[in-house]
Amino acid sequence: MTKIYGNMIKLAIQKDGRLTAETLDFLWKAGLDFEVSKQRLLSTCRNFPLEIYFIRDDDIPNYIGSKIVDLGIIGQNILFEKRPKVKKLLNLRYCFCSLVVAVPKDSNIKTVSDLNSLRVATSYPESAKIFFDKYNLKVSIVTINGSVEIAPNLGFADAIVDLSSSGSTLAMQELRVVSNIFDSEAVLIADPLYLKSPKSGLVEQLISRFKSVLSAKQYKLVIINSAQNILPKLYKFFPYLKRNQLSKSVNIQTVIKEDLLWESIPRLKKLGVKDIYILPIEKIIS
Ligand code: ATP
Ligand code: MG
Repeated sequence: MTKIYGNMIKLAIQKDGRLTAETLDFLWKAGLDFEVSKQRLLSTCRNFPLEIYFIRDDDIPNYIGSKIVDLGIIGQNILFEKRPKVKKLLNLRYCFCSLVVAVPKDSNIKTVSDLNSLRVATSYPESAKIFFDKYNLKVSIVTINGSVEIAPNLGFADAIVDLSSSGSTLAMQELRVVSNIFDSEAVLIADPLYLKSPKSGLVEQLISRFKSVLSAKQYKLVIINSAQNILPKLYKFFPYLKRNQLSKSVNIQTVIKEDLLWESIPRLKKLGVKDIYILPIEKIIS
């Protein structure tokens, strides 16, 4: 049954696009329990005071600006392009891509400087303009909303500025990259004044869940079987081993319902608990 919470945080994510699947996966990994309906307008979390709104990604900064939602997850490229008045709270380490300048494989253009007085098609006119201005190049920017990569083949641009992750779309259109403008990834954003909102405590709790997923992604728990006498030699390979040994801390293992664990974390931290590793259980036989 869904708990009824008084003060809900509202988080906007992309309704249907490249960010959607990975964002949902990230939120589920953070232990948030919600379902996604077919209409995808709004989902309410069962175990955290959170409502998830499904919106077009370009509109998310405006929803934050108008205070309709508190938080959003978008590609950092939108922050560079539109410079909305929002604060980036966290890099989420997925949906990596780069904004690149690409030209037809067999074109004479070798470097960005060769683009002077040529036409460039893009859905990112501001980012492209800033980039070409930096090189003092007079480039005619043609703004189009989709399928930018076919513009050179159709003959209405000499080059493109577009997002690319694996490069496979560019390769399919026989384009090659001449320059990388910036790298992007999914980011969590909020109103710049969110800390003053009565919901800021809840936002901090959500951020701490997100950080726990990000840290877990970087580390593996290893169980090493070794003779006692070589233990000091292992310290140089495993920095955390030394810390644990020297501080004489003990590792305890126990089972707890995940929701209860999340509720207890602030108090456990206050008590002086250091690292908490959360692992899934395959089966329980009691
Ligand atoms: P919407 O209908 O929500 O406005 P959209 O068409 O603007 O969607 P998508 O193509 O779904 O947007 O891309 C959303 C985000 O996914 C981009 O802003 C970017 O941050 C990220 N992304 C990751 N890889 C790529 C890629 N190879 N090409 C384009 N975007 C990518
Ligand atoms: Mg969009």
